[in-house]
Amino acid sequence: MTDRTDCEALDRADPLASLRDQFALPEGLIYLDGNSLGVLPRSTAARVATAVEAEWGRDLIRSWNTAGWIDLPLQVGDAIGTLVGARPGELLAADSTSVNLYKVLSCALRLVAASEPGGIRRTVLSERTNFPTDLYIADTLCRELGFRLELVDDPAQIPGRLGVDTAVLMLTQVHYRTGALHDMAALSTAAHAAGALTVWDLAHSAGALPVDLHRDGADFAVGCGYKYLNGGPGAPAFVWARPDHLARLDALDIRQPLAGWIGHAAPFAFTADYRAAPGIRRFQCGTPPVLSMTALAEGVRTLQAAAPLGGMAALREKSLALTGLFLALVDARCGAFGVGTVTPREAAARGSQVSLTVPDGAYAVVQALIERGVIGDFRAGGATPGDPDLMRFGFTPLYTRFVDVWDAVEHLRTVLADGLWRAPRFQARATVT
Ligand SMILES: *Cc1c(COP(=O)(O)O)cnc(C)c1O
Repeated sequence: MTDRTDCEALDRADPLASLRDQFALPEGLIYLDGNSLGVLPRSTAARVATAVEAEWGRDLIRSWNTAGWIDLPLQVGDAIGTLVGARPGELLAADSTSVNLYKVLSCALRLVAASEPGGIRRTVLSERTNFPTDLYIADTLCRELGFRLELVDDPAQIPGRLGVDTAVLMLTQVHYRTGALHDMAALSTAAHAAGALTVWDLAHSAGALPVDLHRDGADFAVGCGYKYLNGGPGAPAFVWARPDHLARLDALDIRQPLAGWIGHAAPFAFTADYRAAPGIRRFQCGTPPVLSMTALAEGVRTLQAAAPLGGMAALREKSLALTGLFLALVDARCGAFGVGTVTPREAAARGSQVSLTVPDGAYAVVQALIERGVIGDFRAGGATPGDPDLMRFGFTPLYTRFVDVWDAVEHLRTVLADGLWRAPRFQARATVT
């Protein structure tokens, strides 16, 4: 049986323990929400202050060249690329995940339509419980371009559902509610065998586990900068496309749908006609948000610092140890209070979060935990039948300790055992949950 002393020993033996020093974590706080907003890196405030005071304040517009502002989207993109199996120059930091998804899904659908003049492939296949913005964007594009969005209730139905009518399989690699991890290689292979393209959303996988876009057969990918990449609230997202698809877009004269001047081959030629920049750069639309991009660069640096210690593979090993410990301790110490989990117990089938259910009061339990210094979050159920209210706990291996797991479970046990969550102040729902 594990106790707190065992957890302290795990922390002492943890080869990644020093990575936590990169973060400005408030004293005494157990932060289990890095899957929603990563922690502020210590270096970010000073780096952003330099960008504000010296680069903007003193050097002004010269900084586009002298401080390399204009190169940031590709530079930060290359750094993110090392985490997800993209090659240099293939990945771009830009816009939001939603906007990037709109751009790549539009390209994927137009590529399929161009190769299918008969118009048989007219379906975008996804999960009904996929993150809503992904579904809204897909539905909007389907309406615009004459496709249909088809949603499966159970991911096990995906391989059987792929067929001659499937244009694109669009999935989020790690499910935002359950933490379930898709097998990207197997599903991409199945999609390609059916003649479909794949679009992968890495919002909950980039920086959380090793991703290899080339090896695992992704065609297009997008992901989020403010979760496991620690880029700060509203950080730029990222976008990737397999290079041969970009060549096909060129050959077929298909534009990304938000063709703007920064994605032009020669923005400062100021020509009246649009000509797409070569490669991924075309997925830029307008001027990049330099201050946010600067903060994102610092966030991604905290992950690159793990490279000499084993990189994403080592981070994954620790992440699974943390989530495995949390599951085991919750079973052993909170099981009597009816706590359940919707997260796969098989390590290979989950991401870096664990989502729990309670018979009653999931929102209030999360609020009571937050008051005690344990930050997780709440995701309301009910959007689809049989879908419970969830308490989500993210375990970012860069800064989460094994004692944090122990202490979080002890707080949860106390909140449940003593019914602390029933206090009226924990019942009122805030706008952001
Ligand atoms: C967090 C998340 C997003 C966020 O999209 P924004 O455009 O940044 O608001 C999109 N998709 C998934 C799957 C997410 O988890």
